[in-house]
Amino acid sequence: ELYARQPIMAGNWKMNPSTEADALNLANGFVALLHEMEDTCAMDEVEGCTEVVLFPPFPFISKVKDVVGKAGIAVGSQQVYYEDKGAFTGSVSASMVKSVGCEYVLCGHSERRTLFSDDDVNINAKVKKTLEFGMKPILCIGETKEEFDLGITKEVCAMQVSKDLAGVSKEDMKNVVIAYEPVWAIGTGLVCDPESANKVHQFIRTVLERMYDKEVAENIRIQYGGSVTPESVDGLMAMSDIDGCLVGGASLFADKFARIVNFK
Ligand code: PGA
Repeated sequence: ELYARQPIMAGNWKMNPSTEADALNLANGFVALLHEMEDTCAMDEVEGCTEVVLFPPFPFISKVKDVVGKAGIAVGSQQVYYEDKGAFTGSVSASMVKSVGCEYVLCGHSERRTLFSDDDVNINAKVKKTLEFGMKPILCIGETKEEFDLGITKEVCAMQVSKDLAGVSKEDMKNVVIAYEPVWAIGTGLVCDPESANKVHQFIRTVLERMYDKEVAENIRIQYGGSVTPESVDGLMAMSDIDGCLVGGASLFADKFARIVNFK
């Protein structure tokens, strides 16, 4: 199948696994399974294949990169602070994660928004800092259960896109990925039905067309995230405007994530 945009599958490990040994087991297991799979499309050597990115916790990034980098799999950072350096105890800068090999940074994940009070102003600063350091932000947006029930999904997504990308140039938009993650679908097992998700993705493109132009709207990659599993991935990826998935829980199982990146 030919895709208009290169598919991108990302595994967000969140605050898992608990030890470095377990993290390396997971990374090794995943790479071994990819090598076993026939016509796998998740390797860099294959032209037009699926891009794969893992987001391990900070302490494991370097060693996970050593394991997966040889297989053409990228690593990213789950978070960065928007300042460059200094007295910010507990924070990690864009320069730091870049220097250990990160190509991507998650920005605006709903857990950061709700548990760590990331708001649209500092998410915007983090997106810009990520781009300034030559990395690619995956900007996560999506409505809460309450907003979904109120029927304001589009309004919420439009507002997040416009605020979080404020001041990002058209040129820089080539390096931005958006992840549409309905908050009520994250970690709940309630995957959004593919048609509904696709409609939101199409709507996000119209917002970007208004902010930028048709070229940006058509070329940007938009992932779906929220309870993606081997059972749901094929239906999601069959949609015209879903270009990949951001996977939490299922990315902690090498076999499940290997099947997801080899969606049919
Ligand atoms: P989940 O998480 O796949 O466990 O629902 C997705 C995410 O938070 O990115």
